[in-house]
Amino acid sequence: MKNSAQNLILATNNVGKVSEISDLLAAQGYQVSSQAEHGIDSIPETGLTFVENALLKARHVCAQSGTAALGDDSGLVVPTLQGAPGLYSARYAGPNANDTDNNHKLLQAMQGFSDTQRQAMFICVLALLDHQYDPEPVIAIGRWHGRIATQPSGSNGFGYDPLFIPNGFQQTAAQLDPEHKKQISHRALALQALFEQLK
Ligand code: IMP
Repeated sequence: MKNSAQNLILATNNVGKVSEISDLLAAQGYQVSSQAEHGIDSIPETGLTFVENALLKARHVCAQSGTAALGDDSGLVVPTLQGAPGLYSARYAGPNANDTDNNHKLLQAMQGFSDTQRQAMFICVLALLDHQYDPEPVIAIGRWHGRIATQPSGSNGFGYDPLFIPNGFQQTAAQLDPEHKKQISHRALALQALFEQLK
């Protein structure tokens, strides 16, 4: 089915991610819906890697829906912080933290860091499962390189966008036109890698 699947459920409830991923998949001819549209809840992200979490999410949606699902896990990785916020990007400043809290904590953690030490990347891992027992998931990874700004700028996007300056840009991801970000982000790169494997 992986070569012909046209109906996919996205295993995420993050509105920003659903919008970015579904538009790109729709452009390739896929009919995409989110797990929320099917009344499917989220599960705890208990994996120790992005790949494990993407698989957990996809498998859960396959089990609940009986159809193919695309799981995604993503986060911001700062090598000089030993990879933090990493897997815990959404809850970096605590279990109930919002984007502002997380950005604030990141700026505090990086106070006094040089430009070189501010290098960072967004990572997106996608896992496509035909069904919950699918032993051959298609895994695709996208990495978007950049650096962490010294103060937040911009109001587009979500998460760490106000602090992330992609390589080749002078403005943050939150200052980019959302349509532009959608075409060049870690999710776009992961989707390209996924399409390559499905060809
Ligand atoms: P996930 O839902 O477990 O994949 O958590 C992803 C978290 O990583 C989000 O809540 C954001 O904090 C961060 N993140 C992932 N992708 C982006 C992005 O495109 N922009 C900003 N933050 C992102």
